Amino acid sequence: VAKEQGKNNYQFYSSSIAEKGARKMELEMALRKAISNNELELYYQPQINIITGGIYGAEALLRWKHPIYGYLSPDEFIPIAEESNLMLSIGEWVITQAFMQMKKWERNGKKDIKLAINISARQFQYIDFFSFLQKEVQRLQINTAKLELEITESIMQNIEKAKIELNNIKRLGFQISIDDFGKGYSSLSYLKSLPIDTIKIDKSFIDDISHPKHKGSLAKVIIDMGHNMNFVVIAEGVETKEQFDFLKNHACDIVQGYYYSKPLPPKELEKLYL
Ligand code: C2E
Ligand code: MG
Ligand code: MG
Ligand code: MG
Repeated sequence: VAKEQGKNNYQFYSSSIAEKGARKMELEMALRKAISNNELELYYQPQINIITGGIYGAEALLRWKHPIYGYLSPDEFIPIAEESNLMLSIGEWVITQAFMQMKKWERNGKKDIKLAINISARQFQYIDFFSFLQKEVQRLQINTAKLELEITESIMQNIEKAKIELNNIKRLGFQISIDDFGKGYSSLSYLKSLPIDTIKIDKSFIDDISHPKHKGSLAKVIIDMGHNMNFVVIAEGVETKEQFDFLKNHACDIVQGYYYSKPLPPKELEKLYL
């Protein structure tokens, strides 16, 4: 019986792994054509100034409408794009698209807002990344002062290289933000040596605000530390009034999350916030 069960188990696992692999391969093939098929879009989630209640900026978030499966989560397709080198062209598409959207808002006299763009670790480390940014800034004559690039702590694995790259990017006028801050458990000392403007407290610490024991103690520490280092502090994934009130009481600068709004198509963001 044991042998039989073992065999069944084996079959069960092997087929589920095979299925997973098949879906991945299928998505990878479809993703290769996603740009030319116009299946990619950017949504924009508002970031709110906690004191004035007015809009501070927006984060561009990638959406892929698969021809059969409909909208897929970036958490599913971005890792596939990263593994297959597709993230380089998708990342470039995101940058160009976000730049053009910013220009459009400026041209139409929309409110002065900041636009945050996610940059994956692979994309950041790509040797042509900086020259692509520079080329697009030139070509589109974009005002970089209002653009913020979101990177994650994982790029700090090579701190000396990251420092050079970030300083070059700062020279183009961009702001730099550390996304999912606190999740990487990296040492705080590296932050001092890097040209960082903003930190985004990871959602897990915001969730902890409602935890009966933790009561947001780490969120508070991150806010205070961020202010000591003169960073703008953004809380991401803010969902409840309780979290919002806590962040306001502890002098967090900016909030982003479903409490205010989900990511929106650009037209919706314009209608509601600009
Ligand atoms: P992220 O940059 O940390 O973005 C925040 C994620 O949290 C977004 O998920 C957003 O929709 C979601 N979110 C915002 N407020 C709330 C909330 O109140 N509650 C909950 N539960 N979630 C909230 P999304 O759009 O699915 O993106 C997931 C991740 O995929 C992003 O995390 C980012 O790492 C990556 N990503 C998205 N767009 C891009 C892109 O254009 N380029 C790159 N390289 N990565 C991207
Ligand atoms: Mg982000
Ligand atoms: Mg984040
Ligand atoms: Mg996140």
